Amino acid sequence: MISVEEALQHVLDAAQPRPPARVSLRETLGRMLAEDVASDVDSPPHDKSLVDGYAVRADAFVRRGERPPVELAVIEQVTAGEVPTSEVGSGTTIRVMTGAPIPRGADAVVMTEDSQWREEPGVPLGTVQFAQDIEVTAGQNIMPRGTSLRRGQVVLDSGSPIGPAQIGLLAEVGRTDVAVVPPPEVAILPTGDELVDVGFVPGPGKIRNSNGPMLISCGQQAGAVVRDLGVGRDEQEQLASLVREGLAADVLVIAGGVSAGVRDLVPQVLTEAGVQQVFHKVRLKPGKPLWFGLHQAGENDRGQAASTLVFGLPGNPVSSFVCFHLFVAPVIARLAGHTRVTAPRVSGTLCEAYQQRGDRVTYHPAWIDDGDPPQVQLIAWRGSADLRALVDANTLAIFPADNRSYSQGDQVQCLLLPTARDSVWPRAAVRRTL
Ligand code: AMP
Ligand code: MG
Repeated sequence: MISVEEALQHVLDAAQPRPPARVSLRETLGRMLAEDVASDVDSPPHDKSLVDGYAVRADAFVRRGERPPVELAVIEQVTAGEVPTSEVGSGTTIRVMTGAPIPRGADAVVMTEDSQWREEPGVPLGTVQFAQDIEVTAGQNIMPRGTSLRRGQVVLDSGSPIGPAQIGLLAEVGRTDVAVVPPPEVAILPTGDELVDVGFVPGPGKIRNSNGPMLISCGQQAGAVVRDLGVGRDEQEQLASLVREGLAADVLVIAGGVSAGVRDLVPQVLTEAGVQQVFHKVRLKPGKPLWFGLHQAGENDRGQAASTLVFGLPGNPVSSFVCFHLFVAPVIARLAGHTRVTAPRVSGTLCEAYQQRGDRVTYHPAWIDDGDPPQVQLIAWRGSADLRALVDANTLAIFPADNRSYSQGDQVQCLLLPTARDSVWPRAAVRRTL
């Protein structure tokens, strides 16, 4: 049996980022940028006003070291999107709104809040007086042209993950479409003669297929395009046909049928379908029966050698879930071009004692709060079939293989589940503590 670290190395070695594709801007969220993007504009495109106010000459506000009262005639008004037609001279000002280009002659903008406007006979736009104690310096409230971006400058590097801020910037520099690493396609195939569909009441000996919907959503959450293959039966031919269908995807995730039971046919069916086993069984709890292999196909329609990474996850839902987060999610991230592919880990303080036994590392459902240091509450867990324990978990506490008694206050490493980032911190109560 190999270790979790060795198994992870094997699966990541087999995962190469997918070739880039050009997609429209609105399809780029969560993707990895696959080209350097240069700006086609200066931003701002002109010296622009940062406030609603009056464009002035700063020297009008200082006379022989004194600050006299200043009153200026308003000669024009410019809103964002308009262009000033006149020039600010001594004794005059142009009213500008936020974003408006700075008129010729002006070198500062005084905020509306520091001014008092009044009507003046013979002056169509009135005059404006400024509070005597205000400081006016050249450049004040002006953002010079090109301060944020310069035309031709690379503003996003290939290999940047694309989030809303990047999408805003891509829009600012005029990119309607962008080269990105497309998401991998992941096929999900739960197996078992005991499984009935969610909409049915299980008869004697049967259970509902919980893994299917769970793994489909795990795949979606990890950023994959998911193909639902339905349920495989513990029967050679039907299983083989679904496996063949699944091998068209970048990743095939099968659940169940990989242990030592008489109807555990998955490894055999996979081997017969030409999938080469890389490893079977990992020193891991839950998740020991994990199977992993590679299917090398010919060239795909893009002329590249395509291969499918095939996972046989153990059928118990908690085992499936843990194996997905330890091995499948990092593979999806790598195929999608990400460089940081494994879940973040943090260290926390155990809130209760725990006895670790055996030669397999344990990933135990737990809740970690945002304390300093974070506190880790283990969740009552009746083993790999106890899916309910996961509902209360935002992390997996990691207990390395050993015979060791942990005490309250000991430090423990935790793998953060994706939900941890969306959890409400700290949580008032954990329903099912030990
Ligand atoms: P297996 O790995 O096929 O031996 O399954 C191990 C355990 O997980 C058995 O108790 C199965 O009934 C259960 N199991 C397998 N597949 C699923 C599934 N899709 N949903 C819920 N439980 C499952
Ligand atoms: Mg089974």
